[in-house]
Order: sequence, then structure tokens, then C-alpha cells
Amino acid sequence: MKRETTLLVVVLAAAAVLLGVIAAGQFLMRDTGVQTPRGDGAEDAAAALPGRTRYDCLIIRNLSGVDDVVNSPGFPKVHRPDAAASGALRAEPSARRREQLMGTTIGVAVYDMPRDDARRAVEAAMTRVAELSRKLNVFNPQSDVSRVNREAHRAPVTVDDDLHRLIRLSNSVAELSGGAFDATVGPLTSLWRKHRRQKKLPPAEEIERARKLVGYRKVKMDAGRELAFTTAGMSFDFGGIAKGFAAEEAGVVLRKHGVTSAIIDCGGDLKVIGRRPGGAPFRVGVTEPRPNAGPLRFVVQVENTSIVTSGNYEQFTVIDGRRYSHIIDPRSGRSIAALPSVTVIGPDSGLCDALATAVSVLGEKEGLELIERVNATLARQ
Ligand code: ADP
Ligand code: MG
Repeated sequence: MKRETTLLVVVLAAAAVLLGVIAAGQFLMRDTGVQTPRGDGAEDAAAALPGRTRYDCLIIRNLSGVDDVVNSPGFPKVHRPDAAASGALRAEPSARRREQLMGTTIGVAVYDMPRDDARRAVEAAMTRVAELSRKLNVFNPQSDVSRVNREAHRAPVTVDDDLHRLIRLSNSVAELSGGAFDATVGPLTSLWRKHRRQKKLPPAEEIERARKLVGYRKVKMDAGRELAFTTAGMSFDFGGIAKGFAAEEAGVVLRKHGVTSAIIDCGGDLKVIGRRPGGAPFRVGVTEPRPNAGPLRFVVQVENTSIVTSGNYEQFTVIDGRRYSHIIDPRSGRSIAALPSVTVIGPDSGLCDALATAVSVLGEKEGLELIERVNATLARQ
């Protein structure tokens, strides 16, 4: 009997990947808190939510059926690639760069700008992503996050503005999602990572022990950016939000440089600035959510927004014939065995990223309810 098969599908452009941009022809990239008081969570959560306009979500329900999708009411029309692919698509970016950062490929492409200005803007955006990558890398003991994870249960640690904002945003989504997204999931992700490497499931009592260490309400943080863990053994893992957050921050840098047309791709999490040269919307492809899916299956036309996808088809392990994803339900401590691909569109790519992970955990019905709750919360602001 086939006991253990590991399928760690590494992301390479045409294979596992889902998000490519056919922005200017063939730009297909993608290689791979405030402690919220109980009782009034929604108000507090709203305070940390960026943006005022809608978030929308597309769920591909079935790993083999690309037509089996469900979406929230405002999700843009999804096209077949050829239906959308008419017209003059080719336009070279004024400047573009790709780099390996945050454990994935980061791409920045700027259009419609004098070359030297565009180059400077791309450099500055990449520098910003590299800075965040350094701060947020849990595998580097020198990083800000590692320092927090090591010290915050002993005495309060002062975090910088980036980490403060990231934690506040994470906590808001944790609150709104009932803990389906929770950046304090570190003890569980490291437990599962260790066992997945050995192609084993963690023993139930170890899952239980780690689960008790998880919980955004166990983080104390004040406006002065002093942060403390109430329990030893807690740790942050920003893997579910960091790429989107970085894309958003890189977008801020590009705008400061006067950029009006650009795509930032943080491992498939996209920030789209403006429109394509010539004025048409950018076209983002979402492929069928299975390994070796081949060509793009869906194309969404977008401008001035973020589009972020989360799913288990790209990073998972098969143990005893079942697929285990890198996404974990913090409420049960279990790795999600089968989940669809979730794409979230909205103004802030950090929030999109966290929501995509949360919807993956919550599933279709509760996931779409979460999206509407976020929209209702933003509308009240
Ligand atoms: P991807 O990295 O494929 O884009 P996600 O954005 O969903 O997918 O991020 C998955 C990562 O998020 C995991 O590798 C882990 O670091 C972290 N994570 C897993 N489960 C959760 C969760 N429930 N809440 C917050 N972060 C999570
Ligand atoms: Mg995510």
C-alpha cells in the first residue's frame, strides 16, 4: 500500500501557479493590535481596517472543475482567456525587476513612465519589499518577528511601525473571522511543518498543546507599540498576510515616485496600480487550482486594486493518501485537508491576503459571509 507520498509542489510559472498577469501581453509571473476588548470587537476591528470600498471573493469549489465556482456579488466577471485576449496587448514595461524574497518571486513592473524614473521607482519598491522580508522572516533569528517570538512572553517588546500596523490588521481579521485567520498560529504551523517534512501527522496531544498557545487575544499591545505575549511558547507567523502587506507597501512607494501604471506581484499576490498603457484595464489570470494546470483558465480585468489568491494546490503534502495544506484552522489545530482556491479582490492587498486565508479556512458559506461582514464594517466607518 502506498503509505506516504509527498508532493510538495514547488511553484513554477506554468506549473502549479495560479496567478499570472497578462498585463502587457505575456507578463506571466508568479514563480512562486491592539488587544480587542470583548464586547465591542467590530468597532475596534474596523478602526484598523484600511480602505472604504468593497472586497470581493471568488472560490473555485472543486479541484478538478474550473466551472465550479462561487463568488460574492461584486466580483468582476470572469472571462475565458481567449475571450478577453483580443486587442493590442503588447506593451513593454518602462522598467521591471524580479527577485527572490519572502520565500517566493517578487516582481515589480512599471509602465508608461520615462525609463530612468521608472527604474528608480522599481528599485525603491523592491528595497521596501526586501526590508519587510527581513523584518518578517521567522526563519532568521535576527528578524524583528523572531525577536518578538523569543522575548515577548518575558517582557514587553517595542515593535516598529510596520509590525505594529501588521499586527493591528491581523488582529482585525482575526476578530472578524472568529479566529479563522490568526497570525499567532506559529506554534501550529511549526508543528505541522516539522511533521509534514517527515510525512507524518502530528500526534493529537501535540496538536492540542500547540493549539492552546494560539490566540490573538493573548497578545497585548498598546498604542505606544509595546507588545507582550501572555503565554510562553506563543509565536507569530505572518505567512498568511506578509506578501499582501508587502505588495501594498511597495505600491505606496511606487505612488510616491509618481507611478500611475504598474503591477507588483508578491508570489501571486498582486497590487495593480492604474491601468495598462493605452487605458485598458490590466488582465489577471487565475489558473485552474491543481498542479500542472497549464494555461490560464480565467481572466479577470482589473484596475487600481489588489488581487490575491490562496489555495492548497500549490503547497501541500500527501500523507496516507490525503492532502494536507499549509493552511491551518487555528480553532481545531488541524491542517485543512481539502480546500478550494480562493481569490480576493479589494483595495488593500494585505487585507485581501488575510481574507483569502480566512475564507480558505471558513469554506464557502461562512467565507462569503465574512467578506460581507468586512464590507458592512467598512461601510459603517
Ligand atoms: P500562500 O502562501 O500560498 O499565498 P496563504 O496566503 O493562505 O497562502 O498563506 C499560508 C501561510 O499562512 C501558511 O504557510 C502559514 O504561514 C500561514 N497560516 C496558515 N494558516 C493560517 C491561519 N489560519 N491564519 C493565519 N495564517 C495562517
Ligand atoms: Mg493569505
